[in-house]
This record gives sequence, structure tokens and C-alpha cells, in this order.
Amino acid sequence: MTTAALLDLRDVSVSFDGFRAINGLSLTLAPGEMRAIVGPNGAGKTTMMDIITGKTRPDTGSVTFRGHDLTRLDEPAIAELGIGRKFQKPTVFEALSVWDNLLLALKGLRRPHRLLFARLTPDEIRRIEGLLATIRLGAESTRAAGGLSHGQKQWLEIGMLLAQEPDLLLVDEPVAGMTDAETAETAGLLREINRTRSVVVVEHDMDFVRALDVTVTVLHEGAVLAEGPLDTVSNDPRVIEVYLGR
Ligand code: ADP
Repeated sequence: MTTAALLDLRDVSVSFDGFRAINGLSLTLAPGEMRAIVGPNGAGKTTMMDIITGKTRPDTGSVTFRGHDLTRLDEPAIAELGIGRKFQKPTVFEALSVWDNLLLALKGLRRPHRLLFARLTPDEIRRIEGLLATIRLGAESTRAAGGLSHGQKQWLEIGMLLAQEPDLLLVDEPVAGMTDAETAETAGLLREINRTRSVVVVEHDMDFVRALDVTVTVLHEGAVLAEGPLDTVSNDPRVIEVYLGR
């Protein structure tokens, strides 16, 4: 017997003005899995994430998460089901401290002035401290988020998503613009998160994908071209042709 998939995209297609951005895409994520998605520009990676989060509705095919049909739900309902998405550009409250950014996320508050009325329980304090440790910002908790490095802002935003306790975290190009040290640290950070949550990471940086050490799905022209360990897919002649044009 096979374990039920956490996330299952089956034969999904979507067109924009007659152009098939996603063309018969099928992808299955097991509970607890972390998956890396790679592929050249225009392969459909962003559109796939948009479909999972309800931003874009597929024309055909099915998308299920823990058995729920996501194609019938809007973005807030999908987030409520336990899917969190980290976009490429970090959107933290720059004037607020790292701690207050996490507190806002934990309380589900959208407006900083609401913090004035927020009371913290001991459990919430423990959770924020746990998040700070996970995102490597324990020593920066009182610092304004605007003063963090680009990489630290990315980690803070990941922490803000984790505060909402998603079962599945979608991360879009997390290491773009990071230093080598931050990139290496981010691989460890995501592996740590993956101990308790499922993760889908879209990323171009192959050293980073190697460090994740997970199954890689190569997208091309809106469908899966190859899937497997990085060493296997990177030696696949079809993948080499797509990347190198030979
Ligand atoms: P990737 O993230 O892999 O670079 P995208 O999912 O952004 O690829 O895009 C896949 C294809 O769909 C591209 O050719 C892109 O130009 C096209 N596309 C994506 N979104 C739209 C849209 N809203 N309208 C028209 N074309 C789009």
C-alpha cells in the first residue's frame, strides 16, 4: 500500500492568452518530504507555485492537499489549510524589531500598531524564542529588521511564516542575493525546518540544491522533464540539452 500524498498535482494545465505555461504537469509530494524544483526561466515554476496557493486556477487537472481539492479554494482558504508561501523578495516590517516582526506573525496581526495591545503568554514567548533559534537570529532579536542583512531578512520572513505553523512551506529562490555563508546556512535551516514540515523549494543555485540533498524535479515547458537525485537528473541527456542547448 502506498502512503497518501500530501500534495498531488495531476495532469495540470493552464494557458495565458493561448500560451500553455503549464502543460500536463504531474507532481506528488509525500508527507514530510522536501523537494527542490529547478528549471530554466519560463519553465513554469512560478506558475506552479501560483496554482498550489490558489493565485492561479488551472484550466484542467487536479490539485489536492491532504485530500482537499485546492482548485475550489481561494488563497486565504488554502493558507488556512496549512500552506505557507515565501516569495523571493522579503517583506518584513523594517522599522520593527526582529522580535516584534515574529510577534505580529504569531498573533496573525497585519498592522504594527496592534502590537500596542498585544499581551504575550509564556507559551508565546517560548515559541518566539524557538523561532529565533531556528532562523539564526537569537542575537538580533532587539534589532530593527531594516538593519539586517538581505539573508537575515529572508530568514526572518521564513520565521514569520513558521509562526503560522504551515504543514507545507513553499519557498521561492531563497538564496538569491545571499552571501556564500548565508547560502550554506540556509540549506541547514531548511533541513531543520523539514524535520517537522514539508517543504517545496524553487531554486537556481545548484550548490545550494546539492546541499539540500533531496529529490529534484526539473520543469521544462510546463511539465516534468526529469525527477530524482541531483546527480542523476543532472546527467540526464534531456536535462543537459535543456540547460546547455545541446
Ligand atoms: P518560471 O518561474 O519557471 O521562470 P513562469 O511560471 O514565470 O516560469 O512562466 C512560465 C511561462 O508562462 C513563461 O513563458 C511566462 O512568460 C508565462 N506567463 C506566466 N505568467 C503569465 C501571465 N500572467 N500572463 C501571460 N504569460 C504568463
